[in-house]
Amino acid sequence: MRFKLPAAFLQTLLDLVFPPRCVYCGRMGSYLCDDCWNLASPVGPEICIRCGNPLTRRGICHHCRQNPPDPIRGIRGVFFYNGPIAQGIRSLKYHGVQALAPVLAQPLITYVQEHPIPIDGIVPVPLHRKKLAQRGFNQSLLLARNVATALDIPLRDDLIWRSRATAPQAQLGRKERLSNVAGAFSPQEGAALQGETILLIDDVATTGSTLRSCAQALRQLGAGDIWALTVARAHSHTVLDTTSTNISAAEAFLLWDAHRRAQDPDPTPSLI
Ligand SMILES: [Zn+2]
Ligand SMILES: [Zn+2]
Repeated sequence: MRFKLPAAFLQTLLDLVFPPRCVYCGRMGSYLCDDCWNLASPVGPEICIRCGNPLTRRGICHHCRQNPPDPIRGIRGVFFYNGPIAQGIRSLKYHGVQALAPVLAQPLITYVQEHPIPIDGIVPVPLHRKKLAQRGFNQSLLLARNVATALDIPLRDDLIWRSRATAPQAQLGRKERLSNVAGAFSPQEGAALQGETILLIDDVATTGSTLRSCAQALRQLGAGDIWALTVARAHSHTVLDTTSTNISAAEAFLLWDAHRRAQDPDPTPSLI
């Protein structure tokens, strides 16, 4: 039998050799310091209860009323995708700071504790095997594992898999996003569910199309209610993490408009 050191002990050793540094302000002591946490903008309760998009009043947005049914009961994001939260997610995903996973999972844990629903299984959004080989880890799985352990809920990363590699959602428009991920996830062979309530976990949601595509595969397996929870919620028109700098005038306008609406949202009528 191989001798295996506990992960917490290894992390303590690593912290001694490489003391943690705040990924947003650079201060030593933690991966995201208290001051930077305080700069994070929570999405709050004024949302569409289906897609989780911010509204001026809690209710159901125009888009969700026009596009029923949805395989997901509700999508929730804890923070807006900006400032320290965006930096934290980028550092975890693209710079491999895996120690940020338990840090970013904490608001998810708190959210579920404050909004308790009976959850039978926690499912991370799967990464395509090519992307997994490239990155070395799936950030959604790391987040989901932390949430599952803290809340003592079974982690079910054995239900669905990403059967098709897709273009990065961040570089696409709303319509393209939907077709890009449609059918990208498939049920695992031999897996089956009997009406269990599932909580899907991911780092960021924009239009929610990736989450809906996962939910469709879970429905095929026989899942009951499906909820989705992400660390961050991005506005659907905000271009995320795109490396391209040659944006068109129309895209530039959309970016400007998304920022304008983030400051002062349009009044949207709601049912509730
Ligand atoms: Zn900081
Ligand atoms: Zn909605």
